[in-house]
Amino acid sequence: MSSSVAPYIPGSPASACPDLDRAIDKAASGTRLSRAEALVLYKEAPLAELGQLAFLARKRHNPGANVTYLIDRNINYTNVCNTDCSFCAFYRHDPKHPEAYVLPREVMRAKIEEALELGATRILLQGGHNDELPYSFYVEMISWISSNFKVEINAFSPSEIQQMKKVSGKSYAEILGELKAAGMRGLPGGGAEILDDQVRARVSPKKISADEWIAVMEVAHSTGLTTTSTMVIGFGETIEQRLNHLDRLRQAQDRSLQAGFKGFGAFISWPLQFNENTSIGRSRHASGYGAGATEYLRNVALCRLYLDNIQHHQSSWPTLGPEVAQLGLHFGCDDIGSTMMEENVVSQAGAPTARKWCMSPEELQAIIVQAGFTPAQRDTAYNILRLHEVDNVSA
Ligand code: SF4
Repeated sequence: MSSSVAPYIPGSPASACPDLDRAIDKAASGTRLSRAEALVLYKEAPLAELGQLAFLARKRHNPGANVTYLIDRNINYTNVCNTDCSFCAFYRHDPKHPEAYVLPREVMRAKIEEALELGATRILLQGGHNDELPYSFYVEMISWISSNFKVEINAFSPSEIQQMKKVSGKSYAEILGELKAAGMRGLPGGGAEILDDQVRARVSPKKISADEWIAVMEVAHSTGLTTTSTMVIGFGETIEQRLNHLDRLRQAQDRSLQAGFKGFGAFISWPLQFNENTSIGRSRHASGYGAGATEYLRNVALCRLYLDNIQHHQSSWPTLGPEVAQLGLHFGCDDIGSTMMEENVVSQAGAPTARKWCMSPEELQAIIVQAGFTPAQRDTAYNILRLHEVDNVSA
């Protein structure tokens, strides 16, 4: 196996900026970056060099040429939501709206059976914050799936757990403990967007605060659930606000790891999707939102370098397409995400260009091979289920 990316040589002349040179040397050596160093890298480092540094970091965390993927299905159990996020076109606020729904069991059964026939090992359940659903609905849904199907269940997000706290009066520890006992194995990190309350007050003022999002996740870590962390860029946030987000994740991960928990298993970022179906897309500031491929890749690389305590970083194919996702694998990512089979939240906000919102396992394998890596099917905890032997691995 040979490297297709020329290794960065620490101490090599990179710029006329001593602060940048120091930050590059630290990143190349794998030393933890300060916030000031991350800022200078974000603003000043040439894109290709940032990618090389992130690729080296990826190799330190995940040696070898494997790039993992997951076969799963997303199921959105309700689209009723009281939270009115400005970037969302998926929800219906009024439960009596003709398009409002809560999926009946027979529909869920058909979706899960179809997913299992296609080889899915995970079901991912997410929905709106529906005041008409009692707490028992969530526990019974998990319990019904776990007792009827052999599949890993990852479900909800910190803001849905907060909704359950609201309707039940129970603590986060009680809720997550009871969901785990019912068969839930993981809590995905959705709804983080940017963990900075100034940004949240502007784009999703009714949604869970940054502190509460972290608090739910730390309880999930102590409960033994697998978790992920996410980030959405392109709300018009500053680089400093992005670093606030990364600081919160890095500090929470330090606390969880020091306490002996597994912490976040992975980190995933993507650019905000919006169109005229969202209030953000109809606003007169719409041209200032979103992020293109260059900014996405810069963020992907910087996150790999700054989040030095999260092992797996995922490249996003749904938002910028498979070609940019392939580049993400050379900018620090070691995972290409999942098949999804259906996506109703980000897709309804509408990608700027027509995109696919599901992939077959074969398509994900081809994307990985074309990028020069070896595809490996994984489970939620990143255990390898199947390694695909391929020739001409170049990464
Ligand atoms: S993004 Fe989630 S919380 Fe926000 S309105 Fe949409 S469904 Fe509700």
